[in-house]
Amino acid sequence: MSGIVVAIDGPSGSGKSTISRRVAAAEGLGYLDTGAMYRAATWWCIRQGVELTDTEAVAELVREMPLEIGTDPAGPVFAVGGEDVGVVIRSTEISSLVSAVATNLQVRPELQRRQREVIAAESGRAPGSGHRCHSDGRGIVAEGRDLTTVVAPDADVRILLLASEEARLARRAQELHGSVDQETLAATRDQVVRRDADDSTVSNFTTAADGVVTVDTSALSLEEAVATVHRIVTTARRQAR
Ligand code: C5P
Repeated sequence: MSGIVVAIDGPSGSGKSTISRRVAAAEGLGYLDTGAMYRAATWWCIRQGVELTDTEAVAELVREMPLEIGTDPAGPVFAVGGEDVGVVIRSTEISSLVSAVATNLQVRPELQRRQREVIAAESGRAPGSGHRCHSDGRGIVAEGRDLTTVVAPDADVRILLLASEEARLARRAQELHGSVDQETLAATRDQVVRRDADDSTVSNFTTAADGVVTVDTSALSLEEAVATVHRIVTTARRQAR
């Protein structure tokens, strides 16, 4: 029997990463943070000294990127050419540049292909993709823009996480600066509002496609949001048995 595929979409600050990771850990599933792949690609192109506006050169480099992925939700791994980039790809520099790579229409198919490979391997639908498989075919929670529509439209569970702009800004300010006030909200705006505006030119992550369940987390605590998504996943697993 194939493992379960859970695809989670949504804008910045909707809680995608934290919720996906927690649910994957609770269910013994693999976890794929596709945003980290775009971040790693951005880091790699900068490291190779290519101009991010040179779309052809960027796409060529991304196709060659020696990216290693580990899908254990307790410790996801992203390494490029043997170098662990898990921390450096979260820098403000990468956050402010990543959309330039993610909106490159020649880059997206390559990363989407790699994402599908990981998903197929974790759910036992295809042989290993070379990544560090965590779930032994039990399944995966994969999150990021386009996941419910382009990357895994046939996923067993597809969820769009939404939250008001106010809630998303406050969460990111807390996460990045440890407090929520006018100054930290202003400093966070680029990472949430501008980035989503740029990203939305190539993917739709604000309205649910047919068959996609919407969960609005604006008024939910993290625990409540995790519990809501977890319930949807366990119900789907029970029905599949
Ligand atoms: O989720 P995270 O903030 O790490 O994503 C970083 C960036 O990667 C996004 O702003 C977007 O430009 C890009 N991305 C994407 N498609 C995905 C995941 C992320 O274009 N599936």
